Amino acid sequence: MTNTDQSDSAAAAKAGRGSKATANVTAAPLEFRNVVKRYPGAPTAAINDLSFTVPAGEVCVLVGPSGCGKTTAMRLVNRMIDMTGGSILIDEKTIGQRQPAELRREIGYVIQHVGLFPHLTINNNISTVPKLLGWDRKRMAARCEELLELVGLPAEMGRRYPSQLSGGQRQRVGVARALAADPPLMLMDEPFGAIDPINRERLQNEFLRLQREIRKTIVFVTHDIDEAIKMGDRIAILREGGELVQFDTPHRILAEPADDFVAQFVGADRGLKRLALTRLDEIELKASVDGAGGQTISSKATLREALSLMMIEELRPVAVLDPDGNRRGYVTIELLNQSLRRARTDTGTGAA
Ligand code: ADP
Ligand code: MG
Repeated sequence: MTNTDQSDSAAAAKAGRGSKATANVTAAPLEFRNVVKRYPGAPTAAINDLSFTVPAGEVCVLVGPSGCGKTTAMRLVNRMIDMTGGSILIDEKTIGQRQPAELRREIGYVIQHVGLFPHLTINNNISTVPKLLGWDRKRMAARCEELLELVGLPAEMGRRYPSQLSGGQRQRVGVARALAADPPLMLMDEPFGAIDPINRERLQNEFLRLQREIRKTIVFVTHDIDEAIKMGDRIAILREGGELVQFDTPHRILAEPADDFVAQFVGADRGLKRLALTRLDEIELKASVDGAGGQTISSKATLREALSLMMIEELRPVAVLDPDGNRRGYVTIELLNQSLRRARTDTGTGAA
């Protein structure tokens, strides 16, 4: 059982969540309170009465079609642009009282085309904010080394220039730079949008792993619902005009889309996407069955992978093996059905 498509490894990558908390974690909650943004001369608002809360240490994905106001929402947070109405609170303090320059030092910001300084080495790029904060050389050098390791790059890469790195490596440096001063909040605007699909999946998985260690509060923007489902603890679905249509966990968005717009946006295959969010070792298997097929599947595989395998053998039950190769039980089509029904009645809603 080696097939791992994007959504399936999502379940695998997320699975360790909740298992480990690192010491000295800094993360702050973020709240949008009735936020309105109207650009001068625009006939309609880019953001309209937007309210939601991201608890400290969670990833909230803003997702929606192009032009729905995702980038605008992000730029309001670090005051690259000013809001027309409402308020945004970081750690329960309104950003209106903060100096924009100070805010930007405190908020990690990652964008699609990284924006590394081409004439500076990787280490100097990463040190941008620490330098502004007046760190000494030794502390900066140690931090660079630590961050490069954290994002999976060798320390000697720090002496290279951005043009000497691949797109995926540059994107990792972008993440490292945003993390340099240990910000309580990270804003990531389509951070992997310009990366080819294979490297993109790798970066997504690495990022989920990294987040399990660093536990930052993260606002992650994408226009890709599959990326949203994979990356988000919660998802905010926006439609044109910056209107929030649904704010919920990936499970609930797939199980109960708030309206036709969301249903269309998540796609007709939302049942399959839900199966891909759960692994076989998270459900209770049948101890014995009649008429099992000859196939076996790893307990680390997802319910969706189990279904694919069943479809090869007339939907017969499949034996589930733990990592040591011992049979843990059987998965049946009824179990898949039950699991979908259960998610529907699950009350784990994140509505603000
Ligand atoms: P998204 O990131 O979801 O694609 P944006 O936040 O970039 O959307 O844009 C939301 C809306 O605001 C769009 O209609 C866009 O044309 C408009 N907009 C964005 N930036 C500006 C600006 N600087 N001046 C005027 N209108 C803008
Ligand atoms: Mg955008």
